[in-house]
Amino acid sequence: MTEIQLAELVASYIRDVPDFPQPGILFKDITPLLDDGTAFRAVIDGMRSAHGEFDVVAGIEARGFLVAAPLAYAAGVGVVPIRKAGKLPGKTVAMSYALEYGAATIEVLADAVAPGQRVLVVDDVLATGGTLAAALGLLGDMGAEVVGVSVILELAGLGGRERLAGWPLRAVLTT
Ligand code: AMP
Repeated sequence: MTEIQLAELVASYIRDVPDFPQPGILFKDITPLLDDGTAFRAVIDGMRSAHGEFDVVAGIEARGFLVAAPLAYAAGVGVVPIRKAGKLPGKTVAMSYALEYGAATIEVLADAVAPGQRVLVVDDVLATGGTLAAALGLLGDMGAEVVGVSVILELAGLGGRERLAGWPLRAVLTT
């Protein structure tokens, strides 16, 4: 499938939910895509082939896990969960970041990625980029070599791409 065909596929399988989870937010729901095995496989395979070689896939809780695990499986590599604070057992490294209202913290196990390991970082949707920027900061502190940042959908106009300037970002669809 070409990149344009994949983008059209994603466009047709994402559902807009107005005022969720709060008034004024247009939520981009990927569940129709997850629900269709053929479309989901095409998107995961497209994300995999859009990036070069990588040793591990890092996925961001929670919907990022739904992208990271099949992508890692398809590539025959491992998957590293980047989780909300307090969920991972053992020694972790953490990064806090600002949300529109308040703040959030994400964590990864301290030994999850070895220095120099090539990591593909994935999430479902790129909005302001705050979450992915924090994940990239964490992985950078651990000495990981981030070789790709991959999302199904990029919401243009929210500053995400600008915030991630310099990182090898790919989106199947930018809207
Ligand atoms: P960000 O603002 O890029 O840090 O987005 C934070 C997280 O919320 C990401 O993991 C996205 O998956 C999710 N997210 C943000 N805005 C939306 C939206 N409009 N629709 C669906 N998911 C969103």
